[in-house]
Amino acid sequence: MRERREHFIGGKWLPPATGGEIRVHSPADLKYVGQAPDGSPADMDLAVAAAREAFDRGPWPRMASAERAVVLRRMAAILRAQADEVAELLCDEMGAPITFLKRGGGDGVSRLFEYYADLAETWPFEAARQGALGPAVIRQEPVGVVAAITPWNGPMYILALKVAPALAAGCVVVAKPAQETPLDAFCLADAAEQAGLPPGVLNIIPGGREVGDYLVRHPGIDKVSFTGSTAAGRKIGAICGEQLKRCGLELGGKSAAVMLDDADITSLVQCAVPLGLAFNNGQACAALTRVIVPRARHNEVVDAFVDVVQRLTVGDPRDPATELGPLIAERQRDRVERYIALGRAEGATLAVGGGRPAGLDKGWYVEPTVFSDAANDMTIARDEIFGPVGVIIPYDGGDEAAIELANASTYGLGGAVFSADSERAYRAASQIRTGTIGVNMFGVDPLCPFGGFKGSGIGREMGPEGLAGFIEYKSVFGFSN
Ligand code: NAD
Repeated sequence: MRERREHFIGGKWLPPATGGEIRVHSPADLKYVGQAPDGSPADMDLAVAAAREAFDRGPWPRMASAERAVVLRRMAAILRAQADEVAELLCDEMGAPITFLKRGGGDGVSRLFEYYADLAETWPFEAARQGALGPAVIRQEPVGVVAAITPWNGPMYILALKVAPALAAGCVVVAKPAQETPLDAFCLADAAEQAGLPPGVLNIIPGGREVGDYLVRHPGIDKVSFTGSTAAGRKIGAICGEQLKRCGLELGGKSAAVMLDDADITSLVQCAVPLGLAFNNGQACAALTRVIVPRARHNEVVDAFVDVVQRLTVGDPRDPATELGPLIAERQRDRVERYIALGRAEGATLAVGGGRPAGLDKGWYVEPTVFSDAANDMTIARDEIFGPVGVIIPYDGGDEAAIELANASTYGLGGAVFSADSERAYRAASQIRTGTIGVNMFGVDPLCPFGGFKGSGIGREMGPEGLAGFIEYKSVFGFSN
């Protein structure tokens, strides 16, 4: 599972064309975890050719959706049997706390495959309609060969959010996982092979951004499904626009937890710490990292945050007691520390944290950090820091003032509104321009659409909308009445 020397291309295990390798070290203690082949353009050419063959001439897009569902369920069962082992691998690869990775049984990927198998069976791939010209059939056909490009911060799950609905729709996939976390994706390849997925339907070639760019531009690709930073998403979207390729972009965020003046501070803090600065070690796209509070209650909120944050267990992610592990890499820690310095320079108050935790000298750890008395136009309130840093921003005025601040962001991914009156919170939530929002809670629900407004992306994953992203509509006319 941890020593991979070959890409998965066309149903075969093939050594990388250039012989390149990626060595993975744990961000918690820098110990060697395993290795994977490094992808090059030559590997991508082979993978796209195999995928094209599978899509243009292979059985997968032509099978009844119920037959595809059988294979997807087999993959789900294989993945479920490996769930604990994969969680341990992910913990070593990316440093997410093992308790976070095993939450809910740790079989989220299997459940996604089962969900999309069920959906494929009932999906209206062919539906009769009475058109203005006479009877018609509306066909929903697979979009084609999909390039799935994924980040390191939730690697197998994020890849499964693309692969499961794409396969359910009848598409085929060339996946390029991130170089930081190349190993877990091969567990999907193992499951595909064991489940009898036809050759070329799923191809896996890890690599860096250059090979990602090569894949995006490849003429054999019909759709790019990308999750990652807004900066990379912009470049990919521009290429897809020029080439008129279909494109789904799941990008960054700077989501707000909005406290209305009657809200219970304990509920706010109990949600906004684990799903904010501590969410996946602070490396979660939808983390609630801006906390917008009435000025009159600001100091009370800060005290409550400091109290909870000081009690977070920071340490080895393999320890079940750990709530906050390391950042993915040294450059990420440098970046987070630069933002912490900037927050101080911009005049926000460092309420807690800001340094490196004592006794954790080997990995890329940063103390959980909260800034208070911040302004929404400070860099620390505008940029996605992607580390365990929360920013508390006071507002003056009523709910409208809080909503305006929540919306004063180039991003629009997640958010939550807290109030003793859930109707009032719902009214505020309906005015906040984000793809997901909670009322007195926050969560990401795999059965409901997830994605971004504004700079957080284009398109939706999860739920039926996730499958719809891999569909082309075709209207067929000419039937006699
Ligand atoms: P990143 O954009 O640097 O890289 C993501 C993936 O894209 C990697 O596989 C990388 O190799 C590849 N890549 C980078 N530049 C590319 C280019 N120009 N062309 C083709 N491929 C390219 O992001 P990251 O640092 O790995 O991940 C963190 C980011 O991902 C954060 O901004 C986070 O918010 C975002 N994210 C978003 C969601 C979501 O669903 N909205 C989920 C998870 C992460």
